[in-house]
Amino acid sequence: MKLLEYEAKALLLKYNLPIPAGQLVRHSNDNPTIPLPLVIKVQIPVGGRGKAGGVKHISTLNEFHHATELLLSKPILGHQAHSLLAEQALDIKDELYIAITVDRTTRSLMLLAQKHGGMDIESAPHQSGMLALPLSGEPTSRIYEALFNYYGLHKELNHTIQTICYGLWDVCVNEDAMLVEVNPLVITTDNKVVCADAKIELDDAAAFRHPDRQFEQVPDSTQFVILDEQGTVGSMANGAGLAMATVDAIQASGVSPANFLDVGGGTNTDGMVNSFRKLSGLPNIRAIVVNIFGGITRCDEVADAIIKARESVPNLPPLFIRLTGTNEQQGRDLLENAGVSIMPDLKSCVDAAAKEMA
Ligand code: GDP
Ligand code: MN
Repeated sequence: MKLLEYEAKALLLKYNLPIPAGQLVRHSNDNPTIPLPLVIKVQIPVGGRGKAGGVKHISTLNEFHHATELLLSKPILGHQAHSLLAEQALDIKDELYIAITVDRTTRSLMLLAQKHGGMDIESAPHQSGMLALPLSGEPTSRIYEALFNYYGLHKELNHTIQTICYGLWDVCVNEDAMLVEVNPLVITTDNKVVCADAKIELDDAAAFRHPDRQFEQVPDSTQFVILDEQGTVGSMANGAGLAMATVDAIQASGVSPANFLDVGGGTNTDGMVNSFRKLSGLPNIRAIVVNIFGGITRCDEVADAIIKARESVPNLPPLFIRLTGTNEQQGRDLLENAGVSIMPDLKSCVDAAAKEMA
């Protein structure tokens, strides 16, 4: 599960890593409790907020209210934020990149570093010029040395960088993370080192070891794979088997399936609406087949997501829906009241979608 930045920073703080003084803002009429100037950052579970207008520099109270109002009222990168992080603005001299991640090839943790962090590099490991060092245990003096030499910073910062590197490893191991990334790791004009942004992905399989943890986002069981960017028919199903069968049925009817989507068992409405949004954003998509055999996934929840998607997703193509199983009647009633029709079986859905392409 991906944490929001403020949640990730709370974990960094637990391990004494340096983060800027900050305040969580949930309402547009909240007032700043930290001194201006500051930056306000939208709390959504994706990166690239800076480039998308989700990070604002604030120097007056007026700007503060204007920004909180704006960022809490419209989605950025397809996500509506429910919270903002206001932080003391930094006087940035240098921006570095540092991360620790699980590397499947070497079956170990991997330390990743880039001299030039910030908005132009995203977390694409093994970019050219990136330092990548496998960690077989806690970072050794050899690892620290390689890191200092690579960054080429002034010697007096070596100790701080070492503490931060160790801290990130500590977070990764003790919190069962798959990724702990700081980008940018900022060197300020007065030579302080600060984790200005933080991204943490936790290993859901280890959640039982942390029973007291609670986060704003709920883990999403969605498995979404784009099969063909140019595909014309999208699909949504629950269970990997049913999702594969749906893709096969679309393919067999002579049209091109765009994706595989298993909404899983624990998916919430927002997750499904998001999947509809992703599908609707594909360039050639002209129909979506929804094939739900409700078990843990309830038909009324799916119906709710379909209704919300029809209200809020731009360019949603026609939906061809088969819906049966748990809470089927409630789901049917909801859809009927919203003027959405259901088809008797998968074959009817696929045939109707294929006809739409003719
Ligand atoms: P991201 O775009 O989602 O990765 O969000 P970041 O928190 O990394 O912010 C985007 C960029 O804002 C950073 O890469 C910095 O270059 C820039 N920035 C400028 N001033 C500040 C500041 O005071 N604090 C932070 N966190 N970022 C700043
Ligand atoms: Mn960043």
